[in-house]
Amino acid sequence: MPRGRPLLLEVLTALGLVLVPFVLPYVGFAPGTVNQILVWGLFGIGFDILFGYTGLLSFGQSAFFGTGGFVAAYLLTNNLMTSVLLALVIGTLGAMLAGVLVGMIALRRTGIYFAMITVAIAETFFFVENSPLSALTGGENGLPGVPTPHFVLGGFSYQVQNGWSMYGFLAACYFIGMVVALRIMRSPVGAVLIAIRDNPLRARAVGHAVGAYKLAAFVIAAAYAGFAGGLLGVLQGFMPPDAFTFATSGQLVMQTAIGGMGTLYGPLLGAVVWLYLRDFLQEVVGLGSTWKLVLGLVFVLLVCFLRRGIIGGLQDLAARLTAKPHPPAPEESAPIAEVAPPLASLGPSPRHAHAQEPGAIVLEARGITKAYGGIVANRDINVSVTAGELRGVIGPNGAGKSTFFKMLTCEVPPTSGRILFEGRDITGYDVSRVCQLGLTKSYQVNQLFPRLTLRHNIMIAALAERRGRFRLDLLRRAERVPGLALQTEQTLALIGLTARADVPVAELAYGEKRRLEIGLALASSPRLLLLDEPLAGMSPRERRETVQLLKNIRRGRTLVVVEHDMDAVFELAERITVLHEGTVLAEGTPAEIQRSSLVQEAYLGGVAAE
Ligand code: ADP
Repeated sequence: MPRGRPLLLEVLTALGLVLVPFVLPYVGFAPGTVNQILVWGLFGIGFDILFGYTGLLSFGQSAFFGTGGFVAAYLLTNNLMTSVLLALVIGTLGAMLAGVLVGMIALRRTGIYFAMITVAIAETFFFVENSPLSALTGGENGLPGVPTPHFVLGGFSYQVQNGWSMYGFLAACYFIGMVVALRIMRSPVGAVLIAIRDNPLRARAVGHAVGAYKLAAFVIAAAYAGFAGGLLGVLQGFMPPDAFTFATSGQLVMQTAIGGMGTLYGPLLGAVVWLYLRDFLQEVVGLGSTWKLVLGLVFVLLVCFLRRGIIGGLQDLAARLTAKPHPPAPEESAPIAEVAPPLASLGPSPRHAHAQEPGAIVLEARGITKAYGGIVANRDINVSVTAGELRGVIGPNGAGKSTFFKMLTCEVPPTSGRILFEGRDITGYDVSRVCQLGLTKSYQVNQLFPRLTLRHNIMIAALAERRGRFRLDLLRRAERVPGLALQTEQTLALIGLTARADVPVAELAYGEKRRLEIGLALASSPRLLLLDEPLAGMSPRERRETVQLLKNIRRGRTLVVVEHDMDAVFELAERITVLHEGTVLAEGTPAEIQRSSLVQEAYLGGVAAE
């Protein structure tokens, strides 16, 4: 979404819709075709939010297209309602309700399994429409006699007719649909949906209720589908049963892929290509039903050569032509200031509400054990961490350090034992909920949002802290979330990457990515931060910088660090816990650990002697 020119797309959309009747007839488009394009384009806006932006490929959108269409058509053809607009709204609500129910089932799975469930459920809808409910839906005959809208305002009355009159009505619907979609994608919810597409695991770890956001995207897509389905009946004067077929879902997916996913306008452009080719090949070239063969070829060529569809291809071209070089990736990342930049007040936040009492126990693992089948990765671990402490956790490979961390942040549940954070038993909590309480970690293997810029990455984490796990602020601008910009900039300054803020993550140097990994955790304003091997794979200079960063961020925070770099652990940590074969072998100050003969025997060897 372009920022800085807030209403540009809206104005261009309105202009385009006004110009269409003056242009398209001269290049061979009949008004009926243009109207169908608008219905498909509107149907596709919701699907693009679901697939292009959130990354959820559904082959079952016909279920909602048909539901919205048949509910509206039933109300209108049985004289239960005279207002076409009201019937369309009720149809849309029906589709949304179906979306909630289907989404709650289908979203329990991801990837291909999610797609397969949507196919199966849509087929069920088609069957139900055709058999058990055929008395209501007309079965194979559909519902004829759907009226066109009739508007009365004061003394003025207007009956929408077929042709360009219908175009005016559909264009107004499309415009409203697009304005709403643009607002959604510029809202905090839109930002979170994109983050979920990029890395759902990290979106959850920084505190977003990923499941609830996915369901929201699913229901939004169902709403657009339901509304478009209702319009199909109005446009044709007849609600066709094929609205429910798999071919309808497939056509939507293909049109979106042709036009360009993640663009909102892609489905409309895809529909232009699809329906123009249909008319041209069938009527002008006279191919009859074999036109689909040519269409199939066009689709294959487009997907092979323009992977992001027509709009995506044009965007890539424009980006190449107008590319401003990013600041070059430095040989070594920028130095970290010896003194951390001061933090300005960010305003109210649940996580700043109560400070930790110095010396109070912040985290407590009580007898936690984790068994994977016969392998016991952690056995009866008892560890307490006090406020303000920097605790080092060391141990040879396979000692169980990562498993221990995963249990502390509730990524995996312990087989037995309890975990307490600030006195609250968090065993079995969701990762996002634990993060909201103020406990998060940075990962051993980077978990970033690779297609977003550095600033956008930090903003995703800060949004969870500012707004909580889930909020449907669909029409608010993301940048306007109070405190968000300040928190993002402060985090960027803290990790020393302000100058690189607008660079896409994919272009960052390794050391910068590692710092961003820590920055994502920091932007969640944790009161307890776990760092899993923050120095892994770094050059000597990057290592020095990151050690300085750890010194800076420890002020006012409690840190637990798993690290293989012994020098760094002994320099930074106040206490060290040594894990060995899944159990706590020793715990104490660095000096005590160095002196411990048990540790020397089991692990440190030569390092301790030094
Ligand atoms: P460390 O981080 O100290 O290298 P880990 O916690 O990764 O140790 O692993 C401890 C033990 O648990 C290892 O023997 C490892 O093979 C086993 N383990 C870890 N995760 C799993 C898993 N998901 N399934 C089966 N075994 C696992």
